[in-house]
Amino acid sequence: MGLPQILGLQPTARIYKVGLMLVALGTIFVTLYTASSLLLDDSTRASLPGMLGGSKSGNQEPVQEVPVIAPVGTNLDLGKIPAARISYDLPADGERLNAAIVVLVRNSELDGLRKSMRMFEDRFNRRFKYPYVLLNDQNFTQEFRDGISAITKNELRFGTLDSDYWGYSPSVTPEETERKLEFNKNRYLYGGSLSYRFMCRFQSGKFYHHPLVRDLDWYWRLEPDVEYYCDIDYDPFVYMRDRGIKYGFTIAPREGRRTVESLWYHTREWVKQNTHLLPPRSLVNWVMGTDGHYNLCHFWSNFEIVDLSLYRGEAYESYFNYLDNAQGFFYESWGDAPIHSIAASLLLQKGEIHWFEDIGYKHPGNMHCPRDPQMHAKCVCDPAKSYTYRSACQTRFEKVNNMAKERMLEIMRNSETSYLTPPSPEEEEKKS
Ligand code: GDP
Ligand code: MN
Repeated sequence: MGLPQILGLQPTARIYKVGLMLVALGTIFVTLYTASSLLLDDSTRASLPGMLGGSKSGNQEPVQEVPVIAPVGTNLDLGKIPAARISYDLPADGERLNAAIVVLVRNSELDGLRKSMRMFEDRFNRRFKYPYVLLNDQNFTQEFRDGISAITKNELRFGTLDSDYWGYSPSVTPEETERKLEFNKNRYLYGGSLSYRFMCRFQSGKFYHHPLVRDLDWYWRLEPDVEYYCDIDYDPFVYMRDRGIKYGFTIAPREGRRTVESLWYHTREWVKQNTHLLPPRSLVNWVMGTDGHYNLCHFWSNFEIVDLSLYRGEAYESYFNYLDNAQGFFYESWGDAPIHSIAASLLLQKGEIHWFEDIGYKHPGNMHCPRDPQMHAKCVCDPAKSYTYRSACQTRFEKVNNMAKERMLEIMRNSETSYLTPPSPEEEEKKS
Protein backbone atom coordinates (compact mmCIF):
# COMPACT_ATOMS: atom_id res chain seq x y z
CA MET A 1 0.00 0.00 0.00
CA GLY A 2 1.44 3.38 -0.95
CA LEU A 3 2.05 6.13 1.62
CA PRO A 4 0.83 9.72 0.98
CA GLN A 5 3.44 11.99 -0.55
CA ILE A 6 5.05 14.68 1.64
CA LEU A 7 6.47 17.73 -0.21
CA GLY A 8 6.28 15.71 -3.41
CA LEU A 9 8.51 12.92 -2.00
CA GLN A 10 7.54 9.34 -1.44
CA PRO A 11 8.73 8.69 2.13
CA THR A 12 9.71 5.33 3.43
CA ALA A 13 7.54 3.88 6.21
CA ARG A 14 10.30 4.56 8.78
CA ILE A 15 10.63 8.27 7.92
CA TYR A 16 6.86 8.57 8.00
CA LYS A 17 6.68 7.09 11.51
CA VAL A 18 9.44 9.36 12.77
CA GLY A 19 7.58 12.36 11.34
CA LEU A 20 4.38 11.39 13.10
CA MET A 21 6.27 10.98 16.40
CA LEU A 22 7.83 14.44 16.04
CA VAL A 23 4.40 15.99 15.45
CA ALA A 24 3.05 14.21 18.55
CA LEU A 25 6.01 15.28 20.71
CA GLY A 26 5.66 18.85 19.48
CA THR A 27 1.99 18.90 20.46
CA ILE A 28 2.79 17.57 23.94
CA PHE A 29 5.56 20.16 24.38
CA VAL A 30 3.35 23.10 23.35
CA THR A 31 0.58 21.90 25.69
CA LEU A 32 2.95 21.52 28.65
CA TYR A 33 4.64 24.86 27.99
CA THR A 34 1.32 26.70 27.83
CA ALA A 35 0.17 25.06 31.05
CA SER A 36 3.42 25.78 32.85
CA SER A 37 3.46 29.45 31.93
CA LEU A 38 -0.03 29.74 33.40
CA LEU A 39 0.93 27.92 36.57
CA LEU A 40 4.51 28.97 37.30
CA ASP A 41 5.13 32.12 39.29
CA ASP A 42 6.83 35.16 37.89
CA SER A 43 10.30 34.20 39.07
CA THR A 44 10.58 32.09 35.95
CA ARG A 45 10.10 35.21 33.85
CA ALA A 46 12.54 37.44 35.64
CA SER A 47 14.20 38.36 32.39
CA LEU A 48 11.03 39.78 30.86
CA PRO A 49 11.09 43.51 30.25
CA GLY A 50 9.38 45.35 33.04
CA MET A 51 10.50 43.05 35.83
CA LEU A 52 13.76 44.77 36.66
CA GLY A 53 12.58 48.28 35.97
CA GLY A 54 9.52 47.46 37.97
CA SER A 55 6.95 48.78 35.53
CA LYS A 56 4.18 46.45 34.52
CA SER A 57 4.61 47.32 30.85
CA GLY A 58 5.89 44.91 28.21
CA ASN A 59 3.80 42.10 26.88
CA GLN A 60 2.49 40.87 30.20
CA GLU A 61 -1.20 40.88 30.81
CA PRO A 62 -2.21 43.31 33.50
CA VAL A 63 -2.13 41.36 36.76
CA GLN A 64 -4.45 42.18 39.56
CA GLU A 65 -2.37 42.99 42.64
CA VAL A 66 -2.74 40.56 45.50
CA PRO A 67 -1.19 41.35 48.86
CA VAL A 68 1.13 38.51 49.81
CA ILE A 69 1.44 39.52 53.43
CA ALA A 70 -1.75 40.38 55.23
CA PRO A 71 -1.75 43.81 56.84
CA VAL A 72 -1.32 43.56 60.60
CA GLY A 73 -4.55 42.61 62.30
CA THR A 74 -6.19 40.99 59.29
CA ASN A 75 -6.36 37.40 58.16
CA LEU A 76 -5.25 36.66 54.64
CA ASP A 77 -7.73 34.24 53.12
CA LEU A 78 -5.48 32.14 50.93
CA GLY A 79 -8.46 30.30 49.55
CA LYS A 80 -9.59 33.40 47.73
CA ILE A 81 -6.35 33.92 45.90
CA PRO A 82 -5.71 31.97 42.70
CA ALA A 83 -2.64 29.84 43.29
CA ALA A 84 -0.80 31.17 40.28
CA ARG A 85 -1.01 34.68 41.66
CA ILE A 86 0.71 34.02 45.01
CA SER A 87 4.25 34.89 44.28
CA TYR A 88 7.14 35.87 46.50
CA ASP A 89 9.04 36.86 43.43
CA LEU A 90 7.24 40.07 42.61
CA PRO A 91 8.77 43.22 44.02
CA ALA A 92 6.31 44.82 46.43
CA ASP A 93 5.92 48.08 44.57
CA GLY A 94 8.18 47.44 41.64
CA GLU A 95 10.61 50.16 42.67
CA ARG A 96 14.25 49.32 43.14
CA LEU A 97 16.91 51.77 44.29
CA ASN A 98 20.44 52.03 43.00
CA ALA A 99 21.65 49.58 45.63
CA ALA A 100 23.40 46.24 46.01
CA ILE A 101 24.18 43.58 48.55
CA VAL A 102 27.93 43.80 49.10
CA VAL A 103 29.93 40.84 50.38
CA LEU A 104 33.62 40.67 51.15
CA VAL A 105 34.53 37.01 51.26
CA ARG A 106 37.28 34.41 50.88
CA ASN A 107 37.11 31.40 48.57
CA SER A 108 37.34 29.19 51.64
CA GLU A 109 34.06 30.62 52.96
CA LEU A 110 31.91 29.29 50.12
CA ASP A 111 29.75 27.09 52.35
CA GLY A 112 29.20 29.83 54.90
CA LEU A 113 28.20 32.34 52.27
CA ARG A 114 25.90 29.89 50.52
CA LYS A 115 24.12 29.48 53.83
CA SER A 116 23.82 33.24 54.37
CA MET A 117 22.63 33.84 50.84
CA ARG A 118 20.12 31.01 50.85
CA MET A 119 18.43 32.58 53.89
CA PHE A 120 18.81 36.11 52.59
CA GLU A 121 17.24 35.11 49.29
CA ASP A 122 14.38 33.25 50.91
CA ARG A 123 13.61 36.02 53.39
CA PHE A 124 14.07 39.00 51.11
CA ASN A 125 16.00 39.06 47.90
CA ARG A 126 14.30 36.36 45.89
CA ARG A 127 11.48 38.84 45.81
CA PHE A 128 13.28 42.18 45.66
CA LYS A 129 16.05 41.12 43.29
CA TYR A 130 18.94 43.36 44.28
CA PRO A 131 22.28 42.49 42.66
CA TYR A 132 25.17 41.11 44.68
CA VAL A 133 28.69 42.51 44.60
CA LEU A 134 31.23 39.93 45.78
CA LEU A 135 34.72 41.15 46.58
CA ASN A 136 37.88 39.27 47.43
CA ASP A 137 41.58 40.05 47.75
CA GLN A 138 42.24 36.83 45.80
CA ASN A 139 40.70 35.78 42.49
CA PHE A 140 37.43 33.96 42.97
CA THR A 141 37.73 30.32 41.96
CA GLN A 142 35.38 28.75 39.44
CA GLU A 143 34.10 26.47 42.21
CA PHE A 144 33.20 29.52 44.29
CA ARG A 145 31.45 31.27 41.40
CA ASP A 146 29.49 28.14 40.53
CA GLY A 147 28.55 27.49 44.15
CA ILE A 148 27.20 31.02 44.56
CA SER A 149 25.48 31.11 41.16
CA ALA A 150 23.49 28.04 42.16
CA ILE A 151 21.90 29.98 45.03
CA THR A 152 20.34 32.88 43.16
CA LYS A 153 18.96 34.02 39.86
CA ASN A 154 19.84 37.59 40.77
CA GLU A 155 22.76 39.38 39.21
CA LEU A 156 26.23 38.57 40.61
CA ARG A 157 29.18 40.91 40.15
CA PHE A 158 32.56 39.47 41.18
CA GLY A 159 35.51 41.76 41.86
CA THR A 160 39.12 41.44 43.00
CA LEU A 161 40.84 43.94 45.25
CA ASP A 162 44.23 45.28 44.28
CA SER A 163 46.67 47.11 46.56
CA ASP A 164 44.71 50.38 46.25
CA TYR A 165 42.05 48.73 48.37
CA TRP A 166 43.83 46.00 50.26
CA GLY A 167 47.02 47.18 51.85
CA TYR A 168 48.86 49.07 54.56
CA SER A 169 48.09 52.58 55.72
CA PRO A 170 50.77 54.88 54.27
CA SER A 171 51.63 55.86 57.86
CA VAL A 172 52.83 52.41 58.95
CA THR A 173 55.66 50.04 58.10
CA PRO A 174 55.40 46.26 57.62
CA GLU A 175 58.23 45.78 60.12
CA GLU A 176 56.60 47.73 62.94
CA THR A 177 53.24 46.11 62.09
CA GLU A 178 54.90 42.71 62.52
CA ARG A 179 56.11 43.72 65.98
CA LYS A 180 52.65 44.96 67.00
CA LEU A 181 50.96 41.79 65.74
CA GLU A 182 53.36 39.77 67.86
CA PHE A 183 52.58 41.96 70.88
CA ASN A 184 48.81 41.76 70.35
CA LYS A 185 48.39 38.18 69.19
CA ASN A 186 47.24 36.87 72.56
CA ARG A 187 45.57 40.06 73.75
CA TYR A 188 42.37 39.79 71.68
CA LEU A 189 40.72 37.91 68.83
CA TYR A 190 42.62 38.37 65.53
CA GLY A 191 45.30 40.28 67.51
CA GLY A 192 48.05 38.63 65.42
CA SER A 193 46.28 38.63 62.05
CA LEU A 194 47.59 40.91 59.30
CA SER A 195 44.75 40.09 56.88
CA TYR A 196 42.22 41.13 59.53
CA ARG A 197 43.89 44.58 59.59
CA PHE A 198 43.67 44.86 55.79
CA MET A 199 40.02 43.83 56.00
CA CYS A 200 39.14 46.43 58.66
CA ARG A 201 40.89 49.21 56.77
CA PHE A 202 39.16 48.22 53.54
CA GLN A 203 35.74 48.14 55.19
CA SER A 204 36.40 51.44 56.95
CA GLY A 205 37.56 53.65 54.15
CA LYS A 206 37.95 51.87 50.85
CA PHE A 207 35.08 49.66 49.79
CA TYR A 208 32.74 52.44 48.72
CA HIS A 209 35.28 53.68 46.16
CA HIS A 210 35.73 50.28 44.53
CA PRO A 211 34.67 50.28 40.85
CA LEU A 212 31.87 47.79 41.57
CA VAL A 213 30.55 49.88 44.47
CA ARG A 214 31.32 53.50 43.66
CA ASP A 215 28.29 54.02 41.42
CA LEU A 216 25.86 52.66 44.01
CA ASP A 217 23.81 55.01 46.18
CA TRP A 218 23.08 52.38 48.84
CA TYR A 219 24.53 49.16 50.13
CA TRP A 220 23.59 46.34 52.45
CA ARG A 221 26.46 44.32 53.88
CA LEU A 222 26.23 40.56 54.00
CA GLU A 223 28.75 38.11 55.47
CA PRO A 224 29.26 34.35 55.43
CA ASP A 225 27.70 32.40 58.30
CA VAL A 226 25.01 34.89 59.24
CA GLU A 227 21.36 33.98 59.63
CA TYR A 228 18.15 35.78 58.69
CA TYR A 229 15.15 34.69 60.71
CA CYS A 230 12.21 36.81 59.58
CA ASP A 231 10.44 37.57 56.34
CA ILE A 232 11.38 41.04 55.17
CA ASP A 233 8.36 41.90 53.10
CA TYR A 234 9.19 45.52 52.32
CA ASP A 235 12.26 47.15 50.86
CA PRO A 236 14.52 48.56 53.62
CA PHE A 237 16.32 50.77 51.08
CA VAL A 238 13.04 52.40 50.04
CA TYR A 239 11.98 52.62 53.68
CA MET A 240 15.18 54.48 54.54
CA ARG A 241 15.11 56.73 51.50
CA ASP A 242 11.51 57.77 52.18
CA ARG A 243 12.30 58.72 55.79
CA GLY A 244 15.69 60.36 55.33
CA ILE A 245 17.45 57.52 57.18
CA LYS A 246 21.11 57.12 56.29
CA TYR A 247 22.28 54.30 58.55
CA GLY A 248 20.45 51.09 59.50
CA PHE A 249 21.57 48.43 61.98
CA THR A 250 20.26 45.42 63.91
CA ILE A 251 22.69 44.77 66.79
CA ALA A 252 24.68 47.21 68.91
CA PRO A 253 27.24 45.57 71.22
CA ARG A 254 30.25 46.95 73.06
CA GLU A 255 33.74 46.81 71.56
CA GLY A 256 36.73 45.36 73.41
CA ARG A 257 38.74 48.32 74.64
CA ARG A 258 42.12 46.91 73.67
CA THR A 259 41.37 46.91 69.94
CA VAL A 260 40.64 50.65 69.98
CA GLU A 261 42.93 51.93 72.72
CA SER A 262 43.71 55.27 71.09
CA LEU A 263 40.81 55.55 68.63
CA TRP A 264 38.85 57.98 70.78
CA TYR A 265 41.92 60.13 71.44
CA HIS A 266 42.42 60.51 67.68
CA THR A 267 38.72 61.04 67.07
CA ARG A 268 38.74 63.92 69.55
CA GLU A 269 41.78 65.40 67.82
CA TRP A 270 40.00 65.19 64.48
CA VAL A 271 36.85 66.79 65.94
CA LYS A 272 38.87 69.69 67.39
CA GLN A 273 40.46 70.37 64.01
CA ASN A 274 37.32 69.90 61.94
CA THR A 275 34.39 71.40 63.79
CA HIS A 276 33.36 73.09 60.54
CA LEU A 277 32.58 69.63 59.08
CA LEU A 278 30.20 68.71 61.91
CA PRO A 279 26.44 69.31 61.91
CA PRO A 280 24.87 71.61 64.53
CA ARG A 281 23.32 68.63 66.31
CA SER A 282 24.16 64.94 66.32
CA LEU A 283 23.71 61.69 68.20
CA VAL A 284 27.27 61.87 69.56
CA ASN A 285 26.11 61.12 73.09
CA TRP A 286 25.27 57.61 72.01
CA VAL A 287 29.03 56.94 71.90
CA MET A 288 30.31 59.58 74.33
CA GLY A 289 29.42 59.88 78.00
CA THR A 290 29.23 63.23 79.80
CA ASP A 291 32.73 62.36 81.06
CA GLY A 292 33.97 62.84 77.47
CA HIS A 293 35.05 59.20 77.11
CA TYR A 294 34.08 56.65 74.47
CA ASN A 295 31.67 54.09 75.94
CA LEU A 296 32.63 51.43 73.32
CA CYS A 297 29.08 51.23 71.91
CA HIS A 298 28.97 50.49 68.22
CA PHE A 299 26.65 49.25 65.51
CA TRP A 300 27.71 45.75 64.51
CA SER A 301 28.70 46.44 60.94
CA ASN A 302 28.54 42.86 59.69
CA PHE A 303 24.95 44.01 59.08
CA GLU A 304 24.57 47.54 57.90
CA ILE A 305 22.42 49.30 55.34
CA VAL A 306 23.87 52.65 54.44
CA ASP A 307 23.23 55.65 52.26
CA LEU A 308 26.75 55.76 50.83
CA SER A 309 26.72 59.54 50.61
CA LEU A 310 27.52 59.30 54.34
CA TYR A 311 30.90 57.68 53.65
CA ARG A 312 31.63 59.61 50.48
CA GLY A 313 30.97 62.98 52.10
CA GLU A 314 33.79 65.39 52.96
CA ALA A 315 33.51 64.81 56.72
CA TYR A 316 33.78 61.01 56.67
CA GLU A 317 36.60 61.06 54.13
CA SER A 318 38.49 63.53 56.25
CA TYR A 319 37.90 61.40 59.36
CA PHE A 320 39.04 58.19 57.65
CA ASN A 321 42.18 59.83 56.24
CA TYR A 322 43.00 61.23 59.65
CA LEU A 323 42.66 57.78 61.21
CA ASP A 324 44.62 56.13 58.41
CA ASN A 325 47.40 58.51 59.24
CA ALA A 326 47.22 57.67 62.95
CA GLN A 327 48.48 54.08 62.48
CA GLY A 328 45.81 52.38 64.59
CA PHE A 329 44.48 50.11 61.84
CA PHE A 330 47.79 48.25 62.10
CA TYR A 331 49.41 49.05 65.43
CA GLU A 332 46.12 48.49 67.24
CA SER A 333 43.15 46.74 65.62
CA TRP A 334 40.65 49.46 64.85
CA GLY A 335 37.55 47.91 63.35
CA ASP A 336 35.22 49.38 60.80
CA ALA A 337 32.32 48.88 63.21
CA PRO A 338 33.46 51.41 65.85
CA ILE A 339 34.69 53.75 63.12
CA HIS A 340 31.44 53.70 61.14
CA SER A 341 29.50 54.00 64.38
CA ILE A 342 31.45 56.92 65.81
CA ALA A 343 31.23 58.68 62.46
CA ALA A 344 27.48 58.07 62.15
CA SER A 345 27.00 59.37 65.69
CA LEU A 346 29.07 62.49 65.04
CA LEU A 347 27.57 63.24 61.64
CA LEU A 348 23.93 62.16 61.88
CA GLN A 349 20.93 62.97 63.96
CA LYS A 350 18.85 60.37 65.71
CA GLY A 351 16.17 60.30 63.02
CA GLU A 352 18.82 59.46 60.42
CA ILE A 353 19.85 56.24 62.20
CA HIS A 354 17.43 53.36 62.37
CA TRP A 355 17.31 50.15 64.37
CA PHE A 356 15.72 47.50 62.15
CA GLU A 357 14.11 45.78 65.09
CA ASP A 358 11.94 43.71 62.76
CA ILE A 359 14.92 42.03 61.06
CA GLY A 360 15.81 38.86 62.97
CA TYR A 361 19.52 38.28 62.48
CA LYS A 362 22.47 36.37 63.83
CA HIS A 363 26.18 36.71 63.33
CA PRO A 364 28.27 34.25 65.36
CA GLY A 365 28.35 35.70 68.86
CA ASN A 366 25.10 37.67 69.02
CA MET A 367 21.53 37.26 67.86
CA HIS A 368 18.61 39.59 67.46
CA CYS A 369 15.03 38.30 67.46
CA PRO A 370 12.06 40.70 67.39
CA ARG A 371 9.88 40.46 70.49
CA ASP A 372 6.82 42.12 68.98
CA PRO A 373 4.15 39.38 69.00
CA GLN A 374 2.99 40.51 65.58
CA MET A 375 6.36 39.43 64.19
CA HIS A 376 6.03 35.83 65.39
CA ALA A 377 4.28 34.60 62.29
CA LYS A 378 7.16 35.86 60.17
CA CYS A 379 10.11 34.67 62.25
CA VAL A 380 11.76 31.42 63.30
CA CYS A 381 13.74 32.66 66.31
CA ASP A 382 13.19 32.93 70.05
CA PRO A 383 12.97 36.53 71.34
CA ALA A 384 13.86 35.31 74.84
CA LYS A 385 17.31 34.43 73.47
CA SER A 386 17.78 37.77 71.76
CA TYR A 387 20.93 39.57 72.86
CA THR A 388 19.59 42.96 71.88
CA TYR A 389 17.01 43.39 74.63
CA ARG A 390 19.79 42.90 77.17
CA SER A 391 22.31 45.14 75.44
CA ALA A 392 23.13 48.35 77.30
CA CYS A 393 24.17 50.03 74.05
CA GLN A 394 20.86 49.11 72.44
CA THR A 395 18.94 50.56 75.38
CA ARG A 396 21.09 53.64 75.28
CA PHE A 397 20.30 54.07 71.60
CA GLU A 398 16.61 54.12 72.36
CA LYS A 399 17.05 56.61 75.20
CA VAL A 400 19.53 59.19 73.95
CA ASN A 401 18.65 62.33 72.09
CA ASN A 402 20.59 64.63 69.84
CA MET A 403 23.22 66.87 71.35
CA ALA A 404 24.22 70.34 70.18
CA LYS A 405 27.72 70.66 68.75
CA GLU A 406 28.60 73.37 71.29
CA ARG A 407 27.68 71.09 74.17
CA MET A 408 29.78 68.27 72.70
CA LEU A 409 32.80 70.57 72.37
CA GLU A 410 32.29 71.79 75.92
CA ILE A 411 32.29 68.19 77.24
CA MET A 412 35.45 67.50 75.27
CA ARG A 413 37.15 70.63 76.65
CA ASN A 414 36.19 69.67 80.20
CA SER A 415 37.80 66.24 79.82
CA GLU A 416 40.91 67.43 78.01
CA THR A 417 43.33 66.57 80.82
CA SER A 418 42.62 62.85 80.22
CA TYR A 419 43.58 63.27 76.58
CA LEU A 420 46.88 65.12 76.59
CA THR A 421 48.71 62.20 74.96
CA PRO A 422 47.39 59.13 73.13
CA PRO A 423 47.01 56.10 75.39
CA SER A 424 49.64 53.47 74.64
CA PRO A 425 48.69 49.77 74.53
CA GLU A 426 52.09 48.86 75.96
CA GLU A 427 51.53 51.15 78.96
CA GLU A 428 48.00 49.84 79.45
CA GLU A 429 49.37 46.29 79.39
CA LYS A 430 51.84 47.09 82.16
CA LYS A 431 49.04 48.55 84.27
CA SER A 432 46.83 45.47 83.96
P1 GDP B 1 34.51 39.03 62.25
O1 GDP B 1 33.11 39.21 61.74
O2 GDP B 1 35.05 40.27 62.88
O3 GDP B 1 34.67 37.82 63.09
O4 GDP B 1 35.44 38.80 60.99
P2 GDP B 1 35.20 37.88 59.72
O5 GDP B 1 36.24 36.83 59.64
O6 GDP B 1 33.77 37.46 59.63
O7 GDP B 1 35.49 38.91 58.55
C1 GDP B 1 34.60 39.94 58.21
C2 GDP B 1 34.27 39.86 56.74
O8 GDP B 1 35.43 40.06 55.97
C3 GDP B 1 33.71 38.52 56.30
O9 GDP B 1 32.77 38.76 55.27
C4 GDP B 1 34.91 37.80 55.77
O10 GDP B 1 34.54 36.91 54.76
C5 GDP B 1 35.72 38.93 55.20
N1 GDP B 1 37.17 38.69 55.32
C6 GDP B 1 37.92 38.68 56.45
N2 GDP B 1 39.22 38.47 56.16
C7 GDP B 1 39.30 38.36 54.83
C8 GDP B 1 40.39 38.13 53.91
O11 GDP B 1 41.55 38.02 54.28
N3 GDP B 1 40.08 38.08 52.58
C9 GDP B 1 38.80 38.22 52.13
N4 GDP B 1 38.58 38.14 50.82
N5 GDP B 1 37.76 38.43 52.96
C10 GDP B 1 38.00 38.51 54.28
MN1 MN C 1 31.99 37.99 60.55
